[in-house]
Order: sequence, then structure tokens, then C-alpha cells
Amino acid sequence: MKSARETREILDRLETQHPDADTELHFTTPFELLAATILSAQSTDVRVNLVTPALFKKYRDARAMAKASSADLEPLIHSTGFYRAKAKSLIGMAQALVAQHGGEVPASMEALVELPGVGRKTANVVLGHALGVPGLPVDRHVLRVSNRIGIAEGDDPVAVEQQLCAAMPKPRWTRTSDTLILHGRRICRPKPLCDECAVRDDCDYFRLVVARVRDGKAPKKPQTLNTKKLKLTTATGQLKAEPRGTGRVRKARR
Ligand code: SF4
Repeated sequence: MKSARETREILDRLETQHPDADTELHFTTPFELLAATILSAQSTDVRVNLVTPALFKKYRDARAMAKASSADLEPLIHSTGFYRAKAKSLIGMAQALVAQHGGEVPASMEALVELPGVGRKTANVVLGHALGVPGLPVDRHVLRVSNRIGIAEGDDPVAVEQQLCAAMPKPRWTRTSDTLILHGRRICRPKPLCDECAVRDDCDYFRLVVARVRDGKAPKKPQTLNTKKLKLTTATGQLKAEPRGTGRVRKARR
């Protein structure tokens, strides 16, 4: 795995390539971002941004949403998928905010992950983007990109979060996640566009897999991809499977 100095230099270049990296969810309050992030599980930010204006017009804060029923919410959020579980999570989250935090979103990881429907990734998104507390959300893009480059190792989001946080200065944590997510969406897709990548020369996956396949050689498995759940297909040099357990909805917990 690359050193902290190498990781910081790689993020410098990726930030230059993606100067607009930020959350793409629309929100005006921490409560709105919390609700939008819950809705974004197994959906797209674009889709969520289509439903949240009407949702937040009707339920503008935790006190309003805490009084809603599933029958009230489900039609409004139906198109984001898993709408029954998400409606239940939104109402439970709002009721917990009212009962335990005076209707406000708490600015701590420990309190946030106790809320219904809120996992570590959602908590980090809200802390970093709405509450001014640096957080490094790890989603499937962050897992894929960081493992390929060699700046993190493994398919456990918590372990990868710890590795990246250890390498990057705290004020850069949120931006680091935003940048890796955007790089994963635009360039380092499941089928990566390596010739457009600003860190190609430092990427383990490019050196050991993509370049070797292009040269007609057998690809080598990068050490950081040496797990059961991240497999290579030698014919294409592509990852065969995304890391499991990172993009699934389980009771809309994200
Ligand atoms: S060189 Fe290719 S595999 Fe490596 S980070 Fe860039 S796009 Fe991803």
C-alpha cells in the first residue's frame, strides 16, 4: 500500500482533475441532507434531487416529518426505490431527532449512527457537508478507486475509511471522499477510462493489469485487490465484482 505522502500527492492530482467534487445532493439544512442521503441508498443523486423539493416542502424539518405516516411518505419517495423501508427509516429518524435531540441533527458520529436508517456512511456525509465536522464517507466508488490505485487495501468500508483518514489531513477528509467518488463515477468506472486518468502513472491497477494486458502479458493481481470479494478477470483486466456489502440496502440503512 502506498505511503501517506504518496496518497496525499495522488489526491492533490485527483483534486486538480475534479475541482468541482462535492456532494451532488441538494439540501438547505442538515435535516434535509440527512433525509436525502437516506433516500439515496440504491438510487442516484439525480433521482433523489427530483423528489426532495416536494418532500421538503411538505415536511421541512424533523418535527413535521415525525408526524407523517408511511402512507403519507411512500408516494412522495416511491421513485427512489425501496420506498417502504425508506419511509419507515425517515419517520423513525425524524421521531428519534425530536425525542432525543430537540429536533436538531446531532454533530457526532456516535449519535448519528443510533438514528434509524443511518449508517456510518450517511453520518459522514452529513457531518462533512452540513455540520462542519470532517468525515470520510466510503461508498463503492471509494472502495473501488482506492483499492485500484493502491492507497487503501480491503473491502471493509470502515477499514478503508481508517486507512484514508490516517493518510490525509483531517481538514481534507470530506474532499477526499468527494474526489474519489467523482473519479469513480467519471473515470475509474467499473470499466476504467485509464487514458483520461490523472494518476495513471501511480496506479497499481494500471501498472499490473491494464498495461500488462495491453502488452499481451498476463495481468498480475495487485496486492491491494488480494481479497476474496475483489476478483480479476484476466481476459479483460476488469474487476469481476464490486466489493460486496457496500451498495446494498438493508432496511435502507446507508
Ligand atoms: S489508472 Fe485506471 S484503474 Fe487506475 S485510477 Fe486511473 S482510471 Fe482507475
